[in-house]
Amino acid sequence: MARRAFRLLAVTVTAAAVVVVGPGPAQAAPAFKVPFPCGQSWSGQTRTNHSPANAIDFNRTDDQGDPVVASAPGTVDRVTDLGDTSYGKYVRINHGSGYTTYYAHLNGFNVSVGQTVGYGSVIGYVGTTGGSTGPHLHYEQRLDGADIQIRFNGALALYWGTKTYTSDNACSGGNTGSGTVDTAGSPLTVRSGPGTGYSAVGTVADGATVTIYCQTAGTTVTGTYGTSDIWDRIGTDRFVSDAYVYTGYDGYIPSVPRC
Ligand SMILES: [Zn+2]
Repeated sequence: MARRAFRLLAVTVTAAAVVVVGPGPAQAAPAFKVPFPCGQSWSGQTRTNHSPANAIDFNRTDDQGDPVVASAPGTVDRVTDLGDTSYGKYVRINHGSGYTTYYAHLNGFNVSVGQTVGYGSVIGYVGTTGGSTGPHLHYEQRLDGADIQIRFNGALALYWGTKTYTSDNACSGGNTGSGTVDTAGSPLTVRSGPGTGYSAVGTVADGATVTIYCQTAGTTVTGTYGTSDIWDRIGTDRFVSDAYVYTGYDGYIPSVPRC
């Protein structure tokens, strides 16, 4: 048993080391969320003949005029009307580290260039402007200008096909964060305080989504996402090591308070 456990640990450490020292884009993507208000469910379609190929078209019943929200914090750097062609009325948000998101065919705008937006900020309204044949939101995530396969909370969207996506965007007013536990198998121990010296008060399953109310420095832990002294408070007197939680950020989550 001990030997097996050691081998699993070795695999985890190797994978983490590749992420840390490997060449190429090392910046973690923002924790993008579904670009609609908390709790709403939208049908999102990907298709190989879409332009660009990795975009999602979102629909729901009677969606004309429905609010569209920022999928992550950032700065609005385009509010453009291309008339009856292409995107029509569209907004681009710059999230830093080369990441941008596009929201196209809007009926109207609710932001201006240079404006700072956070999770849940309404940026415009669903429409059918530009080269669109019916109301829908055309949504893209790009890295260094090239469209990339879309992820929400780190989870890859369905390629190719149609799937229902339910928004957890700003469900707690934007002052909490969200993370996905990744231990490569075993449950993650929950501690009563921000460190391994605090008593174990429960576990969270591998793959579970946790709400992060605040973050603080504690015991240094090496986990799936490298070495970190950050601990996430996921409930009253309940803390987990951020080294095992995917939040989209290498360090502290900008929108989440310190404990
Ligand atoms: Zn589209």
